[in-house]
Amino acid sequence: MSQTTMQDTRILDGKALSETMKGEIADEVKEWVAAGHPAPHLAAVLIGEDGASRTYVDHKVRSCARVGFESTLIQRTADITQEELLEIVHGLNDDPSIDGFIVQLPLPDHLDAQAVIEAVDPAKDVDGFHPVNMGNLALGLPGFVPATPAGIMTMLERSGIDTQGKHAVVIGRSSIVGTPMSLLLSRSGQPGNCTVTLCHSRTVDLAGHCREADILVAAVGRPEMVKADMVKEGAIVIDVGITRVEDPTAKRGYRLKGDVDYADVAPRCSWITPVPGGVGPMTIVSLLRNTLTAARAKHRA
Ligand code: NAD
Repeated sequence: MSQTTMQDTRILDGKALSETMKGEIADEVKEWVAAGHPAPHLAAVLIGEDGASRTYVDHKVRSCARVGFESTLIQRTADITQEELLEIVHGLNDDPSIDGFIVQLPLPDHLDAQAVIEAVDPAKDVDGFHPVNMGNLALGLPGFVPATPAGIMTMLERSGIDTQGKHAVVIGRSSIVGTPMSLLLSRSGQPGNCTVTLCHSRTVDLAGHCREADILVAAVGRPEMVKADMVKEGAIVIDVGITRVEDPTAKRGYRLKGDVDYADVAPRCSWITPVPGGVGPMTIVSLLRNTLTAARAKHRA
């Protein structure tokens, strides 16, 4: 059996691709505004003091400026009531200047996240979490696709990776990553047309399933759980996981770790995403794309 060497491994560089795509979106926004339309406007609602959530929201808001969008950040302390949060959501639904908005998850424990998701107008649900958008995704109908799996599909597409007939194994069945990812990969199209196995916390012989994967997507949140002996030679490995792992030698006191043990696994792969700089930036650019789509749809309505 031939051994794949590190030189054969190609990096799926989400950072570089997302920069290219932000440039494309910025050009489209310039044309849109030159045609007399208002700049697309994304709002983000951030509840509480969670450091990771704050970082994600900051990135999203900064990216809006990069592509010429308006952005609004609404911040409230963790002691907000469900009623107060729903009032904010209803206000954004009714505000004609807002094209799309997100409520950053996770929410503090006393809040009912599902009720909040269901309160968002599906036409402004640029995170794609509302049951209407999830249902459209399951049925293969147009709608907003959650940003992380959408970003992964774009990455596969723009890297020219042929997914036809491949066996894809997705680890993790969350409604924001694993489940929509499995649906998108199994859908008819390119990328798509995969035979998909969806693994989760109750899967028996996870390593055995993973070894069968031509495309392996890890979306669990357990740092470096995927090791080389779980990966088929030549596989395409997409690492969605982002966990802050304490490291006193790091500037911020922590490092970001993916679900894949990169150093161990990369030499076996044909393609692999790094963490950071892989799926994360593609998530943000997909959110921007969804917001531009929402702005265009509103204008047509
Ligand atoms: P989640 O906690 O909602 O879901 C985790 C899933 O992993 C569950 O479905 C569970 O069944 C499965 N799981 C748990 N332990 C397992 C095990 N031992 N074996 C197999 N499956 C197991 O998490 P999520 O929201 O889907 O996020 C997953 C990871 O992706 C997290 O690290 C999160 O930070 C990261 N994430 C990254 C981005 C990005 O833009 N890169 C976006 C969203 C989430």
